[in-house]
Amino acid sequence: MWLVADQQREGLLAKERKMRRAVMLAWSTMRVCWLVSKDRSCQRIKLPHLEMVVIGRGPETKITDKKCSRRQVQLKADCNKGYVKVKQIGVNPTSIDLEDIGKDQEIKLKPGQILHIVNKLYPYTVQFLDEMGSCAGVEEVKPKGGKRPCDESENNVESMPGKPAKFGQMDPQGSSSSYKQNDSNSSTSLCQNPSRKKECLTHWSQGLKVSMKDPNMQIYKDERAVVIKDMYPKARYHWLVLPWESISSLKAVTQQHIELLEHMHAVGEQIIQQCPEKDTLPFRLGYHAIPSLSHLHLHVISQDFDSPWFVTKRHWNSFTTEYFVDSQDVIEMVKKKGRVIVDVSISQLLKLPLKCHVCKQLLPTVPKLKEHLGKHWPK
Ligand code: AMP
Ligand code: ZN
Repeated sequence: MWLVADQQREGLLAKERKMRRAVMLAWSTMRVCWLVSKDRSCQRIKLPHLEMVVIGRGPETKITDKKCSRRQVQLKADCNKGYVKVKQIGVNPTSIDLEDIGKDQEIKLKPGQILHIVNKLYPYTVQFLDEMGSCAGVEEVKPKGGKRPCDESENNVESMPGKPAKFGQMDPQGSSSSYKQNDSNSSTSLCQNPSRKKECLTHWSQGLKVSMKDPNMQIYKDERAVVIKDMYPKARYHWLVLPWESISSLKAVTQQHIELLEHMHAVGEQIIQQCPEKDTLPFRLGYHAIPSLSHLHLHVISQDFDSPWFVTKRHWNSFTTEYFVDSQDVIEMVKKKGRVIVDVSISQLLKLPLKCHVCKQLLPTVPKLKEHLGKHWPK
């Protein structure tokens, strides 16, 4: 009798141990560690759980300084414990929070601390992000075959029915060539399908609130933010990062949102890393000083502006003048001033002449500008 009870208890304990292991495993695969350059011209570097990664002078860090060895530091992230073990391999000093590690010595690097790769130069921090899918933090949500609201609309930029949109492959050609612009200029979303009338009659300014909850629009989500494709992308790659928290716009942002803004930025950077053209196209992350749509959203946009949805001077100037405020500048401003201050005359920038953002050449019309941009970003 007792033996049976003991065996049962043993069985239960083993089951519990197995479950705990499974939870631990799930936890470790759900978190990803990123080494993030404080100098924004560099890509972030993924540090897989418990794998050795060696960095130094080279294309990954863009460090060309001969004082930095090609194998300067060895990094090993522990996503369960939330730190990275950093070992200095190169001769010149690597430091954490300005304290030299010492040759062949190892120190733990935690989020918030600054790692200087060599001679107090080339600062990096680490970030541990929750990963939703198996593919480096990006959950690819495939359309389930059902139509999205307004699928019949001329504004549908998703891929063709039955062919799920692959991550990062937006298909503007999937939309009708006789498209009507339907973002900030119309009063309600166009929809020919009466059964979808309710969703389609949502006022356009509330469109993002609908899209962010639509699984077919989501390409990544975690407990704080969601990423969707911009429904009318103004470039080859254009995503929006939105917080779940109800924040109407930059105007409502306060110092209590700093961490959230930083998280949104990190998520945006992470999304860029999944882009097939990430090495050839530059990206910017930022906010429109005066957004047209309700609910705070961070634009993550490639700088080719190669899109049939980019049609007006207003579109151009909203992404290439100071009307587009860099995400890092927003964060800095909130840190320093407690809120985002926008110049009252900012909307005048939308009327500026068309100027190429790469070579600064003035172009007389949007079609001429588009033709010109093709030189900078060949297909
Ligand atoms: P803005 O409010 O100017 O910062 O930008 C709003 C962005 O949302 C634009 O880039 C639009 O193309 C995009 N957009 C408009 N309506 C929707 C929608 N329903 N779902 C997703 N993106 C949208
Ligand atoms: Zn140019």
